[in-house]
Amino acid sequence: MKVISLNTPSTASTIYIGKDATKSRLPALTNGVKCFVVTDSNVHALYGDFFTEYFKDAEIFVLPAGEEYKNFASLQAILEKMSAAGLHRTSRVFAVGGGVIGDIGGLAAALYMRGISCVQIPTTLLAQVDSSVGGKTAIDLDGVKNVVGAFYQPQEVLVNPTFLSTLPPREIKCGLGEIVKYAALNGEIFDCLERGFEDLEKLIAVCIEHKARVVERDEKEAGERKSLNVGHTTGHAIELTSGLSHGECVLYGMWLETDMAIKAGVCEKEYGARLKAIVKRALKNEPVSKLDLSNVKAFAGKAKSDKKNADDNKIVMSVAKAKNEWTVWALSFEEYVSALEKAVLDWKREELVCEQ
Ligand code: ADP
Ligand code: ZN
Repeated sequence: MKVISLNTPSTASTIYIGKDATKSRLPALTNGVKCFVVTDSNVHALYGDFFTEYFKDAEIFVLPAGEEYKNFASLQAILEKMSAAGLHRTSRVFAVGGGVIGDIGGLAAALYMRGISCVQIPTTLLAQVDSSVGGKTAIDLDGVKNVVGAFYQPQEVLVNPTFLSTLPPREIKCGLGEIVKYAALNGEIFDCLERGFEDLEKLIAVCIEHKARVVERDEKEAGERKSLNVGHTTGHAIELTSGLSHGECVLYGMWLETDMAIKAGVCEKEYGARLKAIVKRALKNEPVSKLDLSNVKAFAGKAKSDKKNADDNKIVMSVAKAKNEWTVWALSFEEYVSALEKAVLDWKREELVCEQ
């Protein structure tokens, strides 16, 4: 089992990665403590034995599965149930599920009595490799993703790759999007992926290690943590117009932004080509979905309306520059649309070549 510490000015958080992570930590974490579990209907149905074994005395809140439930009404219902269960300052919340559960469970823990202990038990690849680590918690509001939230570090994160055995291929591919994002930032992960996606457990550990060090240096995303948004500016915009999974959109976003950055001389040509090849290989994983790239203006418009990316009418991207190097790249909206249109043409040209 691999153990990684993440120390910020506010908290010390420990991440355990391996098949024994839950078995070895849960008895101590639940012993003599009032426990409250937040999970979703799919995970609850699939892992009944797990809940019976470790949480037989705990209150279990089962949210219907789906991002649409990551809202205020659910948060209120969770907090009310925590209060009705008599949770106090020394009680502990366990968020067992994918990114949705980690986000809303973490936020409930952050708010209840101004913050009680929280343990994240991520069960999707995306949550294991990325969202359960680093303390971002949130709900959506009026269709805007993650707009109400808090930075709140979990006391522990228990990453057990056994949970991934029941994950549908679409969700595995979604997590690959974030793994490839780490490859764009970290030479060791880049080399691993260039050789092929071999040892998933090891990859999860190196991605978490990378994220932990970044979050320690910049917990509140004032600078370096922005690097973790590579591919996300264009990726989010595609997500809002396509209905594809988050990770898959990040992959498309990363390919297009890297292509744009190479042309502008922002990203090293040879390195950028290798990165694009890694991204493309990840996109070929099942299920392969076709993205309609005919309306570039439509999704470019979404990037503009995204407050996180837009600053004085500029579109701001975090892009890979060279191995182990990244940079913030800002373009006017017009420059962005024009560069994106050229990148889309490149994508279509490459796809045609591949299909021949
Ligand atoms: P993400 O981690 O991708 O942000 P979600 O919390 O939305 O995602 O989870 C994605 C889907 O996968 C949800 O339908 C959730 O119920 C389901 N899910 C979570 N963990 C597992 C698992 N271990 N096996 C099967 N399905 C799972
Ligand atoms: Zn992401």
